[in-house]
Amino acid sequence: MKGGATRLAVVTGGARGIGLAIARRLVAEGFAVVAASRTPVSDLPAGMTHARLDVTDRAAVAALFAGLGKLDLLVNNAGLAGGQGSDAGDDADDALWHAILATNLTGAWYCSRAALARLPARTGRIVNIASVLGLRGVADQPAYVAAKHGLVGLTRAMAMQAAPRGITVNAICPGWVDTAMAARRYAEIGITAAQAAAGIPTGRVASPAEVADIVAFLAGPGAGSITGQAIAVDGGSSAHA
Ligand code: NDP
Repeated sequence: MKGGATRLAVVTGGARGIGLAIARRLVAEGFAVVAASRTPVSDLPAGMTHARLDVTDRAAVAALFAGLGKLDLLVNNAGLAGGQGSDAGDDADDALWHAILATNLTGAWYCSRAALARLPARTGRIVNIASVLGLRGVADQPAYVAAKHGLVGLTRAMAMQAAPRGITVNAICPGWVDTAMAARRYAEIGITAAQAAAGIPTGRVASPAEVADIVAFLAGPGAGSITGQAIAVDGGSSAHA
């Protein structure tokens, strides 16, 4: 929907990786974008502004959303991944568990709750960047798998809350996407990018722009009857027997 009054989007984690690709794509669609993340950023493209935000800080989330004049779209993209030893059972392992749940799940809840009160009927949208690990498990990331399954569940619950007002809430579930997070995970589990690609039916890792394309579609008027869905963008991995 290009032209007309400028719509406002908040993209958490919107200053790099998948979030930056989403923000760029939304600017191209005519949105003004607030990229909200912890690290100060000064050199964002035109159409974007940065807001310092830790999504795990409930008061800070409430203050950010209260300070927006309007809001049309929230993209919960901020995320944290990390492998956990199955028998570590130590303080570091617990701290990682709590940080991953707080960032990927509780943070999305704080932002969604604050956004829902402000989104306009019929055209308001929330898009959650979950993961294929919100649809199935792996052994070495229990917190991340639990948080992303939780985010898919939150998507379904909030879709039901928002449906009477015509507001949609959907999740995108990417497989490997070419970002710094993926590079850190390749190193953690001892594979190369080429080996990751070889394990995907289409034989390649997705680009951040491919995730952004789906966000743009879900944010548009043609997606008004799509809600409560978890859409895999994974080169067919979740369809593989
Ligand atoms: P990156 O690590 O490249 O970026 C993560 C972003 O989240 C950064 O902008 C970071 O900014 C922000 N962030 C992290 N913690 C917080 C916080 N507490 N408050 C606010 N912002 C925060 O990751 P990707 O771009 O790869 O991932 C984006 C999303 O996509 C995540 O939710 C991830 O789980 C998901 N995903 C990624 C996949 C991949 O292969 N890359 C696959 C499937 C899903 P800062 O540190 O400055 O706060």
